[in-house]
Amino acid sequence: MEGPVIKTVGLKKAYITDAGSLEVLHGVDFELQRGEFVAIMGPSGSGKSTFMNILGCLDVPTEGNYYLLGESVEKLSPDQLAGRRNRFLGFVFQGFNLLPRADLLENVALPLLYAKVPNAQRKKKAMELLDRVGLAPWAKHRPSQVSGGQQQRAALARALAASPSLVLADEPTGNLDSQTSDEMMRLFIELNEQGLTLVVVTHESDVAACAKRLTRFRDGLLIEDKAVENRRRP
Ligand code: ADP
Ligand code: MG
Repeated sequence: MEGPVIKTVGLKKAYITDAGSLEVLHGVDFELQRGEFVAIMGPSGSGKSTFMNILGCLDVPTEGNYYLLGESVEKLSPDQLAGRRNRFLGFVFQGFNLLPRADLLENVALPLLYAKVPNAQRKKKAMELLDRVGLAPWAKHRPSQVSGGQQQRAALARALAASPSLVLADEPTGNLDSQTSDEMMRLFIELNEQGLTLVVVTHESDVAACAKRLTRFRDGLLIEDKAVENRRRP
């Protein structure tokens, strides 16, 4: 498909609080093409997660438009939004969010279960994905039996399971030491070079330096958007 993967126009978001309506995104214009790898930086509270939640169809804007693969999502029902999430998007969060009682293979296979892929195919695909992130030997281990870095790689494999058009990662290295974080970034770079479109929120400039493009939020506005020169390759 032609056209941007993501486009936002005058995107605003207000939350209803006890003190009334609080606007935290004040009009964000953003476009992302297929194959891009963009980092989003900015201080805590600047609206990064709010923006990511909207990009991820976990929330809808109060004003403005969000086009995912050319389709405006504001008027979609919660079920339709869930459908777009399952079909087009993969998520990686700071806290890994794996099911503790399932082994890594089962965790990675879960999106394929939702997609109604038959059992045998599901296991095969999940195993390929685990292999792709270097975790094939740990397929039968539960999340608690592997390291944080391995859990995060499993979370990435799970995000890739449904062959998403876009992977959204919110502080994916936030709980990792710098060496493990570098391993994760090597994997992101490799996947991006294989064609994966990536948005990564981070407060670490070392992590952002691995992206091809850097954007910065402040006080609910996108204040910077530039190509990364001299990309870091850990
Ligand atoms: P960041 O990810 O950059 O740290 P957030 O998007 O999480 O920022 O938050 C932006 C602002 O919105 C903050 O002031 C935060 O307190 C507020 N906020 C976030 N989520 C909610 C919510 N569900 N209800 C009310 N305020 C919220
Ligand atoms: Mg956040």
